[in-house]
Amino acid sequence: MEENTKLRLDVKRTKLQAMAQGLCPQCREGKMFMYPFWQVTKFDQMHAHCPVCNLRFEVEPGFWYGAMFISYAINVMFLAFLGVAIYIIFNDPPILYYIIPITVFSLAAVPFNFRISRSIFIHLFGFIKYKPR
Ligand SMILES: [Zn+2]
Repeated sequence: MEENTKLRLDVKRTKLQAMAQGLCPQCREGKMFMYPFWQVTKFDQMHAHCPVCNLRFEVEPGFWYGAMFISYAINVMFLAFLGVAIYIIFNDPPILYYIIPITVFSLAAVPFNFRISRSIFIHLFGFIKYKPR
């Protein structure tokens, strides 16, 4: 019995861990997304309900539109950082030295950005309480 309790404690995750791993905000065990983000053609496919606790991920119609604001903020943060890094490393190069790497990075980051934005949005603005089993 005591062994079992220890195992259960090991499984518990913090909100931040669940957010980073794209796990359900209610049970912190079920995956929100069906495939890993490197499967570029399927990175956006989500489970409608949590496979563990059956929580409906789209809390209300149009819920995911809010995640676009998170996505925008993350993208701007990365691009500003990249722009400053290019400015410092290459000592204020011509404009194409900014546009090309920033565009490539921005497109390459779409799968990551899409998923982390939805995960952050549902964890912070879904108002779903954590219910450990
Ligand atoms: Zn769940």
